[in-house]
This record gives sequence, structure tokens and C-alpha cells, in this order.
Amino acid sequence: MLKIYNTLSRQKEEFVPIRQGKAYMYSCGPTVYNYAHIGNLRTYIFMDLFRRTLKYDGYKLKGVMNITDVGHLLSDGDEGEDKMQKASREQKKSPWEIAAFYTDVFFKDLAALNIGKPEIIAKATDHIKEMIDYVQKLVDKGYGYEIDDGIYFDIGKFPAYGKLSRLNLEEQQAGARVEVNSQKRHPADFALWKKAEPEHIMQWESPWGMGYPGWHIECSAMSLKYLGMPFDIHTGGVDHIPVHHENEIAQNEALTGEKSVNYWVHGEFMLVDGGKMSKSLGNTYRIADLEERGYKALDFRYFCLNTHYRKKLNFTFEGLDAAKAAYARLLTQVFKHKSAPACGDKSAAERYLAQFKEAVDDDLNVPLALGILWTMIKEKPCREIYEAVLEFDKVLGLSLDKAQPAQEEQEDVPAEILELCEQRKAAKAARDWAKADALRARISELGYGVTDTKEGYKVAKL
Ligand code: AMP
Ligand code: ZN
Repeated sequence: MLKIYNTLSRQKEEFVPIRQGKAYMYSCGPTVYNYAHIGNLRTYIFMDLFRRTLKYDGYKLKGVMNITDVGHLLSDGDEGEDKMQKASREQKKSPWEIAAFYTDVFFKDLAALNIGKPEIIAKATDHIKEMIDYVQKLVDKGYGYEIDDGIYFDIGKFPAYGKLSRLNLEEQQAGARVEVNSQKRHPADFALWKKAEPEHIMQWESPWGMGYPGWHIECSAMSLKYLGMPFDIHTGGVDHIPVHHENEIAQNEALTGEKSVNYWVHGEFMLVDGGKMSKSLGNTYRIADLEERGYKALDFRYFCLNTHYRKKLNFTFEGLDAAKAAYARLLTQVFKHKSAPACGDKSAAERYLAQFKEAVDDDLNVPLALGILWTMIKEKPCREIYEAVLEFDKVLGLSLDKAQPAQEEQEDVPAEILELCEQRKAAKAARDWAKADALRARISELGYGVTDTKEGYKVAKL
């Protein structure tokens, strides 16, 4: 039974889907006017662990992620320059080119990190009509009102506002630099639709003239379209709790008159050297920056997996070094089981599998699950353990099937063992499987394990 921490109730709750055996999930996606940094990617790794756990538990997933290719404004308070427009001006490319370029890089980063793509990827610019319809309905119901620069949501009509963040409006405003717009009925009223200045590059026709959607309406309109309401799960980073998700709830519930999402689940932030990541400090690292320094994307994934998603994670290069070393050790250890013969007893593997499932089902306790993995692989080399490792990896996503011996170990293999490996290779080439198996058994009796890869066999001490 999967339990997950629901920000709405501030409690771990049993996951009960709306449709039996299915999990509908919406995840706030990137704004593609820039590269995703490692903090953003931590949030998508969390999303991925959640999706993998649901799949592991047998749920069929319907996941939606938006790609915000309409620039939203520089501040949550609907002020400032449009981010996409700014990038477009600075990089001398059209907003469409900017969006296409960064979307492509984003998906490459996800692939390198073994983050599975949600089933539906929804570009905001493909859903302008749905957004306009949504805004129109809110206006018709009396929740939206028009002023000179756009259509705004009337928070005064939605008394439940603030139920997710548990902040009252004054507290919420205290932190945000919202410029006063004297036409708004309340300072926290937010834009559903903005009217565009003629020079604004991305703009669409609407009942209120040329304009572009507010950021929050994108997620509401696209989740409604693909998942219906209510749906099961909504994910994002903790920074989205007080404004973005609060606003989504207000829009959704104003429209449908009922609860829109059953489980709001948020990933904690990544810090760098104990502080905020920021352009001015030069510490908004990307995966490509880590790769340039000799790390692999999966070293970073392993680094993230060591900290529970609801805890802050402080990124340092020392920490990443430690993760890289541990991950390499893990692959070496796993290889010993991969290359070992079956030991004819599944009971140990089954015991560990049960512990593993209990850990991930307890609010995605992946750090504990990793601990169980480490304990398990200390058992005597045995194929059954390797098979359990592959099961764990369905959730961990660490490509443990690619486990190989450490380079130094391969270099230390005695000539006698190498000779047996060569004979086994020849036996396989001659399709003499019985002989190949007998040779593998002999190699293992002598304390070595052999396995086959695309580049040929690999052998190492067990
Ligand atoms: P954005 O493109 O700014 O909307 O961010 C994309 C995702 O990354 C959102 O879910 C944010 O909550 C999340 N995010 C932004 N900064 C960080 C950070 N430092 N650590 C973890 N997640 C973050
Ligand atoms: Zn969103």
C-alpha cells in the first residue's frame, strides 16, 4: 500500500486512485526560455521516482507535463518583462526558436538522467484556445473581471484561497514584490489573460483583444483537458505551493465547484554550497557543466537519490564526488552478482524485495531503499540477487543492468581465467551452450565472474 505526503493535509496518506488501477498525474514542466539547472532536474527526478513507484505498484499511468513556451512574466505578481521575450531579444532568435532549442535540451537532460517522459507532453502554445475558453467560463461565472491590461481572477470571490500554503493573503503578499495595480480589486488578484502591447511578440486573438495567457491558467487548462477534474496527483517544486498551485486551485475550483486534485505532492529545493542557486553567483549548474567536469548524469541521479525528496539537498562538488565513487562501487558490486551462477535459492532475494517495496511505498523512501540495496549486494554472489537488483532498478533508474567490473579489476585477471574465458567465447561462437555454461561454472569456482556486453565479455573477481 503506497503512502504519500499530501501538502494539502500535511500528512502521509494512503494513495487511493479515482479510477481503479490507474494513476492520473500532472507535473508542472519547464519554462523553456533557458536551460534547466540541476535544481529543476532534482524536481523531475522526484517526479520520476514517484511515477516509477506507481508503476512498480501496478498502476497504469497517465501523466501530463506542460512545456511553458509562452513566456510568463518575470515575477509571480504579473509584472515585469515577459521571460520569453527577454530571451528572444537577448539571443536574437524568435521565441519559437528559443522554445524549440531549450525544449530539445530539456528532453536530452531527462533522457541522460533516466527520467521517463510523461505520457502526454503539452505545449502551452498548442492550447491557447482551451485557455481562452477556461478564462471565458471564469468570467461568465463572475470569478474573472476585466481591467485595462487584462482579465484578473477575483480572489475575494474564493474564500478558500490559501488552503494549500496555509498562508493568509497578507502573509503571502509580504514576501512577494507585487507592484500596485490600482485597478485590481485585491493586490493578490492574478492575471488570467494579459492584453498585449503591439510590440509583444507572442500574442493571440481573444474575446478581450490580442493578448496572451497568464501562467497559472496554462496548467489548469491543460490538466482539465487531459485528465479531467478531479484527478489524482499534482507535482511540482515547493516554490509552487504559495502562488502557482494556490492559483491553480482557485481557478479549478471556481470552474468546477469541487475539489480538483486529491494529492498535491511537492519536492524540496536543491541548494548549492548551502545557499540559493543564482545566475549572479554563477552556481546554476547544468548537467552539461557536470559532464564537462568529468561526471556522468547518473552520478548526479545517484547523488539525488540519497536524500529524501521532502528534504533540502545541498549540492557540493565534494558531495557529488562521494556519490560518483559510491555509484561506481555499486556497479562493481552488482557485476559480481550479474556474472555469478544461480545459487538455487530465491528466499534472500525475496526478503530484500519485500523490504524494498515497503521502503518506496512509505512516501518514496528511496534513501532507505538504497540502503537495502547495499545490504543485499553484500550477500554471496548469486544470480538471484542480480535479478532482485533489476527489480529495484525499475524504481531507482540507475541502469544497474549495465554493471561492469571496475577497470583495475579487469586488468588483474590471471591468464588461466582469461584462457577459460576465451574457450567459453569460442564455445558460444560454436553455439555449444552446454560447454559455455560448464566453462562459466568453472570460472566461478575459481572465484571469477564473466558476463557478456556489446564490446565482448567482461571478467572480474567475485
Ligand atoms: P521553472 O522552470 O522555474 O518553472 O521550474 C521548473 C521546476 O523546477 C519547478 O517544478 C520548480 O518548482 C523546480 N525548481 C526550481 N528551482 C529549484 C531548486 N533550486 N531546487 C529544486 N527544484 C527547483
Ligand atoms: Zn504548473
